[in-house]
Amino acid sequence: MFNQLGVIGCGLMGGSFALALKRAGLVKRVVGYSKSPSTTERARKLGVIDVAAESALLAVSGSDIVLISVPVAATEATFKAIRHLVEPGMLVMDVGSTKRDVVDAARRVLRERVGAFVPAHPIAGKEMSGIQHADASLYNGRQVILTPLPQNAPELVQKATDVWSAIGTQVLKMTAENHDAAFAAVSHLPHLLAFAYFSSVVNQPAGKDFLSLAGPGFRDFTRIAASSPEMWRDILVANREEVLKQAQRFRHALDALEHVMREGNGDALEDLIRGPAEGRSGLADGAPGCPAPARQGPATHAVHSPSRPAAAAWRRRHGAPARIEVHLQSRAAAGRPGRGRDRTA
Ligand code: NAP
Repeated sequence: MFNQLGVIGCGLMGGSFALALKRAGLVKRVVGYSKSPSTTERARKLGVIDVAAESALLAVSGSDIVLISVPVAATEATFKAIRHLVEPGMLVMDVGSTKRDVVDAARRVLRERVGAFVPAHPIAGKEMSGIQHADASLYNGRQVILTPLPQNAPELVQKATDVWSAIGTQVLKMTAENHDAAFAAVSHLPHLLAFAYFSSVVNQPAGKDFLSLAGPGFRDFTRIAASSPEMWRDILVANREEVLKQAQRFRHALDALEHVMREGNGDALEDLIRGPAEGRSGLADGAPGCPAPARQGPATHAVHSPSRPAAAAWRRRHGAPARIEVHLQSRAAAGRPGRGRDRTA
């Protein structure tokens, strides 16, 4: 059991982690800090954190586990603010949607202390950001990607794995490079396209009229265009190299479709549609929006074992907490997150 969780960035992700740890009985006290004092105070009033800290450093002081849950571009400044109190044995994690930039910043700033930092990206989210939407169940049944550093002690990586498992996530490990390449394809590009597509429809003379006629297909396709502009600015800038590669692949695929349409070649068009139609129907049976990385992703290593109760695993390794409530889904259920409910980044 942890004595104190320090949350830096009391928003949707940080607040949900705090609530999940509290519900699982894994932490005695949560200290939080956010850029705006009003946010930190709100988190305290909502009972997400117990103590409002006046600085990031004060949130780290006395904490044995720290979660950095700020927009990715603010991560380096956060490392700078806390580095003096980062010490061996402490578990520091982030939740950033990009990993190479976060890892580079950690190396630059934390230097000899970088071993305390285990980079993480939970594949979970919601339509709305902000502490008021924090939810103890946000991570339950979802995946979390860890991109451990060579400087991380194996026991610390195990501790990170155990804490995420104990709040119901399936833990995968990969390199930061593979993470960013994979998420450029399955998350960052789709957001870019949703922003572009929505703009192209509404910014035409009859756009508003067209919008009034839109049905479920439009709603499904553009749902993620409602995401936080600040968050997505940071992600798309941080991972631009990989996203631009994926955009180029997309452009080729679109060109191919346009080419056969221009020729009026219905058979060729049908062939080009059949592949994705069959592929996507196959996904619907398994894990829409959350395909198992072991099957299709780059070098991943699943360490979660749904057959082994996560709470028992935690107890064996770290001693019995006063009370643990774990809501762990079966592998099958974990592969079928609620459709249309979650926004992941
Ligand atoms: P959020 O709800 O907007 O929360 C972000 C929090 O960070 C806010 O409380 C904000 O404080 C605070 N903050 C911003 N800059 C800060 C700074 N320099 N120092 C301290 N606090 C700062 O956003 P979120 O959805 O939780 O996202 C947080 C992180 O999670 C991002 O890195 C994102 O990439 C990652 N992530 C998000 C999702 C998702 O779907 N939402 C999924 C996976 C990963 P104020 O309220 O004072 O501005």
